[in-house]
Amino acid sequence: MWFRKRKYTVLKPPVERRVEIPDGLWHKCGECLAITLAKDFEANQKVCPKCGHHEQMNSSERIISTFDPDSFEEDNEHVKPADPLKFFDSKKYSDRLVIYQKKTGMNDAIVTGTALCGGYRVAAGVMEFEFVGGSMGSVVGEKMTRLMERAIKERLPVIVICASGGARMQEGILSLMQMAKTAMACARLHKERIPYFTVLTHPTTAGVMASFASLGDMVIAEPNALIGFAGPRVIQQTINQVLPKGFQKSEFVKEHGFIDIVLERKDLRPTLINLLSFFAPWAKVSESGEKKAESA
Ligand SMILES: [Zn+2]
Repeated sequence: MWFRKRKYTVLKPPVERRVEIPDGLWHKCGECLAITLAKDFEANQKVCPKCGHHEQMNSSERIISTFDPDSFEEDNEHVKPADPLKFFDSKKYSDRLVIYQKKTGMNDAIVTGTALCGGYRVAAGVMEFEFVGGSMGSVVGEKMTRLMERAIKERLPVIVICASGGARMQEGILSLMQMAKTAMACARLHKERIPYFTVLTHPTTAGVMASFASLGDMVIAEPNALIGFAGPRVIQQTINQVLPKGFQKSEFVKEHGFIDIVLERKDLRPTLINLLSFFAPWAKVSESGEKKAESA
């Protein structure tokens, strides 16, 4: 007989020998898919050691990596968002806010206060992308403005770390008005000759980019961050042309003059300290900040 039915043995996986890997032990890079130990990845400030991809950081991680240890003092934490339009889409805006507040432990998409950076006392604002995409509503606008007013009063240089998808559409015109309000505050800062540095992280777009993010005396960006007003897809559809390579990425935007420096995350803090020593020498209050940070 030419054809004979073959018998296959089914191999069973050796269940008892399988190694259980606990969750969160490894990190897979979103860009090059390389797998690294989560603890090494965290120690590298969430930058992939293989390809240099800068993963998003939340506001507390930003505060830790940018400012001197335990130096950040929050202000205006009581400012809470309202729902003046009684807006709803698939959910009520007021319900959405509660969900994000629980998720992030914050009232809205920005945390402001004072901090030390290499021993220099600064007014600091850090945006939280996890909170409704870091969108700017009345609270972000109000807290940014109060931060700048405080900076003028106390003559503190200002550092703002941005991460935002733009204006908070659920607050309608009120969110758009924050662009004018924060831009006015930036103008007053400029008039008072207070140095103002902005750090644009992935992504910084739309209403935030078109107001306080791009108005820094020194505009710094992280590598390969999406920076622009309307998204690339919208622009492509509008002008009906293929967009150039790297369009709206930090390096491209820098080449076209909108950004002053593109910095890797590890160089951010030392550069800020350098800028502060040059532009705001009067703000130095302690020597210990730098030493403490280096020994940490
Ligand atoms: Zn990678």
